[in-house]
This record gives sequence, C-alpha cells and structure tokens, in this order.
Amino acid sequence: MIYTVDHIPISKGKRPGTTLVPTSITVHNTANTSSTAKNERGWLTNTENIRNASFHIVVDENEAIECIPLTEVAYHAGKAVGNRTSLGIELCESGNQEVVWDNAVKLIAKMLYERGWAVDKVCTHKSWSSKNCPRLILPRWDQFTADIQKELLKLSVVKEPEKVLDEVSNWAKLAQSWVKENGVSDGTKPKDSVTREQVWQMLYDYDRKVKK
Ligand SMILES: [Zn+2]
Repeated sequence: MIYTVDHIPISKGKRPGTTLVPTSITVHNTANTSSTAKNERGWLTNTENIRNASFHIVVDENEAIECIPLTEVAYHAGKAVGNRTSLGIELCESGNQEVVWDNAVKLIAKMLYERGWAVDKVCTHKSWSSKNCPRLILPRWDQFTADIQKELLKLSVVKEPEKVLDEVSNWAKLAQSWVKENGVSDGTKPKDSVTREQVWQMLYDYDRKVKK
C-alpha cells in the first residue's frame, strides 16, 4: 500500500498546530460511501468545509494519506481528551471493503510496532463519544483487533530475530569465511550462543585437520 504524506496547512478548525503526545490510535469510518482517501484529503482544504473536524491518516483500498503530522493534534474524537491524546485513522467506505480492512490492519500494526505498543492501544471513536463510529468495523471489532494482533506478531516475532540472527557483523566476516573453509563450522547462525562441548569439538576438528 502506498503511504503518502500530504499535510494540510495550519488552520483553526482542522490543524491547530498543538503538540500531540499520542497514547492511542482511534479508528473511524468516513460515513461516506463514495469518497476515496484523496477525496477526504481534498475535503480538508476545501473552502466549503467549515466543520471543526480532521484526522491524521485516511486509508482506502489503494493508499494511505497522512494529512496531519502524527506529532500534532487533530479534531476527530468528538471529545477534547481523545483529540489531545489519540491519533485518528479514517477508513474509507468506498471500494473493496476487505482490502480497506487489510490495509488498515497492516498500517495500524506497523504503527503499534514502531511505538512498542500492544493492540490494546487501538480504540474506537465510539469509546470517546457515543457516536456510532467506525460504523462498518464496530460489528466486527473483535475480529479487527484480532487481525491487527496477528499482523503485529508477524512483525515482532518473525522479522526481528531473523534479520538480527542471520546477519554477520562486518568485523566477523573474514573469520566466518575462515571457519567455513577450514571445516570448523558451517558459518550459519552467527548470533547463536555456543556450548562448551561445541567449542571442544570445533577445536578438536581443527586440530585433527591441521595434523593431517
Ligand atoms: Zn469517527
């Protein structure tokens, strides 16, 4: 999914420029069955739009657009406390809703992962005020957060150790080739720990080879 940063200018009812230290992510639906992410971004700077309402990111079946910096307040929660503490994500109601769902799940999981947050940091607009929002997601909210959790696990469990454990440090690269050439080790799992008996065996193998 494409992620575009296209910030609206500072403006009174949309982007006050106030610093936000977010502690949660609030999920919304646009309540407009035909608008795309680009349409929603465009509406924020349309002179006919006089509502005091905005959001940080809008997601549709094709892309995500960041409209307000994630370090600044947006007006999306209906209640001041939500606006002061939460990042607002709008899910478009146009296009293939399963794809919008997947895009939002992936985006939110990545945002949680980057901040070291668990899935309990994701909340609904309804939890701040009584508004029936995100209206398409609410009936399947448990499934939505379960999907985010699955994606988050993929990011934290699979990606991290593999990447770290399979990469040989620059300083150890010559030694890695040497142990392979000399039959001391196959050179894999460079970050794994080694037991005493494995060290014995490696030294034994090398000694026997040298004495041949
Ligand atoms: Zn909402």
